[in-house]
Amino acid sequence: MTVKLDKLIGLVSPSRLETAQVCMAKFCFRYIEREPEPWNAAMQFGTAFDETVGHCFTAKKATRLPTIKRAQEMFASEWDYAAGAIEVWQGEQRGALLDIGVKCVAAWQPRIGRHIKPLAVQEHLTEQVKDPISGDTFALQGFLDIRGTRRTVDIVADTKTSKKAYSQSVFQKRMQPVSYTLLTGLNTFEYHVVTRTKKPAVQVLRATITDDDRRGFLIRAGILRRNIAHAYRTGDWLPNRDSNLCSKRYCAFWSKCEARFGGSVPA
Ligand code: SF4
Repeated sequence: MTVKLDKLIGLVSPSRLETAQVCMAKFCFRYIEREPEPWNAAMQFGTAFDETVGHCFTAKKATRLPTIKRAQEMFASEWDYAAGAIEVWQGEQRGALLDIGVKCVAAWQPRIGRHIKPLAVQEHLTEQVKDPISGDTFALQGFLDIRGTRRTVDIVADTKTSKKAYSQSVFQKRMQPVSYTLLTGLNTFEYHVVTRTKKPAVQVLRATITDDDRRGFLIRAGILRRNIAHAYRTGDWLPNRDSNLCSKRYCAFWSKCEARFGGSVPA
C-alpha cells in the first residue's frame, strides 16, 4: 500500500468524505488503489461549463461580464477540449451537448452572472479544523467556484450541471455547503443548478449555515476519518450496494467490485 494513512486522513475534502460516507470500497478503489476512472460525458460537460463560468466571473471581476455570445464561444472552445477526453458517452452525443451547453450559458448569464459581484474565482482554500469529539486537528480543503456578493449578502457558491433539478434536501446530504462556509468564514451558501436539457432551467438554492451545522459536520468528518483509519489497518473496505449511487452507471469500479466482493451491481 503506497498511500500513507496520515496523508489519507490528515487532509480531507468534501468529495473525499462523501465517497467514504457512500461506500468504503469505492473510497479504497479511488484513493488507496487509485484505479483509473474513465471520463464520462456528464462529468466533462460539467467541467466545460465550470470553466466557462470561471472565465465569465474572472472577466467580470477584472472589467465586465462577457456578452452571452462571447460566453457561448468560450463554452464551445472548452467543450471542444473536454469532449476530446471522453471515454464513456452513455448515450450522449457530442453535437447535441454543444447545443445544450450554449443554451445553458444563455440561461445562466442573466440569472446568475449578472447578479453576483465576484470577490474571488476558483479559489483553493485549506483550513485547519478540529474534531469536537476526539480533539484531533486535520486540514480541510476545498476548491471554490465563486465567492461574491449578491445584493448586500456575501455568499459562497458552487455551480452544478444536472439532468434534473435539485431539491432543498441537498443541503442535508452534501458536505460541500458546510465545509465551504468553514473555509471562507461566510454563512450563506448557494447551489447554482443548470439543467442539462434542451430547455435549460437555472435554479438558485440558498441555505444559511449555522454554527450547529458546522459542529455536526466536524463530528461526522471525525467519525469518517476514524472509519477510514480502521479500514486502512484491517483491509475491511466494505462495499455498500444499498446506496442510490451504487450502479453500473454511477460507479466506475463496478466490475472490480463484482470481481472482489461477488454478487452483482445494479444496472
Ligand atoms: S459498485 Fe457499489 S458497492 Fe461497489 S464500489 Fe461502487 S458504489 Fe461501492
